[in-house]
Amino acid sequence: MFRDIVILGGGPAGLTAGMYAARARIPVLVLEKGMPGGQMTATEWVDNYPGFSEPIYGVDLAQKMEAHARKFGVDIAYADIVQVSRTPEGFSLTPESGDSFTCRALIVATGASPVKLGIPGEMALAGRGVSYCAVCDGPFFRDLEVAVIGGGDSAVEEAVYLSRFSSAVHVIHRRDQLRAVKEIQEKAFAEPKLTFHWNSVPIAIKGEKEVTAVTIRSVKDGSEQDLPVAGVFFYVGLNPNLGSLRDLVQTDERGFVITDDRMACSTPGVFAAGDIRSKILRQIATAVGDGAIAAYSAQLYLENLPSPR
Ligand code: NAP
Repeated sequence: MFRDIVILGGGPAGLTAGMYAARARIPVLVLEKGMPGGQMTATEWVDNYPGFSEPIYGVDLAQKMEAHARKFGVDIAYADIVQVSRTPEGFSLTPESGDSFTCRALIVATGASPVKLGIPGEMALAGRGVSYCAVCDGPFFRDLEVAVIGGGDSAVEEAVYLSRFSSAVHVIHRRDQLRAVKEIQEKAFAEPKLTFHWNSVPIAIKGEKEVTAVTIRSVKDGSEQDLPVAGVFFYVGLNPNLGSLRDLVQTDERGFVITDDRMACSTPGVFAAGDIRSKILRQIATAVGDGAIAAYSAQLYLENLPSPR
């Protein structure tokens, strides 16, 4: 299937890019391997997206963005792309199964995924108490104690969310100050079910069939203790979802894609938008802005290509 622009990823950046391309009457296709909406779908509430002064469910905002893009004629196909290569006309994208997709300009909006610490028990007990998504798994921990690892916006926000279900939430952070924005911190400090374990890191998850405890170690004095919890939620940052694009784009030292201020990547015809980019602030608001710019830049790129004979 050919489209002038193919957008990889259907999160806020990809859907916005699709909408802008479609409104410019450029044949465009968004390829998504899961549910459109990206990380919005794993977020309980969004309360910092302009225009929604009352918090909106992440899933609802995702559905609204998808409907908005479709209204302007954006096609969304479900495909897991395993290979992206350059062709004389542009790019070819090979899915895990089925026919390839081709395009003249490519917008990469594949986002980022939770970092895994790789401590003992983390992989073995994934899905059996170890989780990376409180919105997905939180309700399984009603009246049980859980731990949240990390001190950023995600960890602290999701710890507050988990306090709805869980009897106690242990926040384990490697420093003595949270990274999360102050407004989120204030909510967390006001929540009596939260206990903060400062200057501590998890070193093992214990349990045979299910999680029974997390062992934490003080980074100050090396002392260790087991916290008896049924769930451990990891929020220790994000890794870029680069996959098959590794050879096509230049990245920073953490693997996030480097663009110029037009969202153009190192390969002509490739643009990037959203959390996959090397950038200072990863938010829905900034992803949407990236998406709009990427689509416009792709439009200018296509207009300047020699017309095919
Ligand atoms: P993040 O901001 O990178 O925070 C990761 C947290 O994990 C930090 O507190 C970090 O500690 C800790 N950490 C990292 N590596 C660790 C390790 N090896 N062992 C123990 N702890 C470790 O990641 P995030 O919270 O997932 O957020 C990602 C992006 O999404 C950010 O830009 C964030 O602002 C954004 N976001 C925004 C919202 C919102 O606006 N409502 C919600 C969620 C996410 P240090 O603090 O010591 O580095």
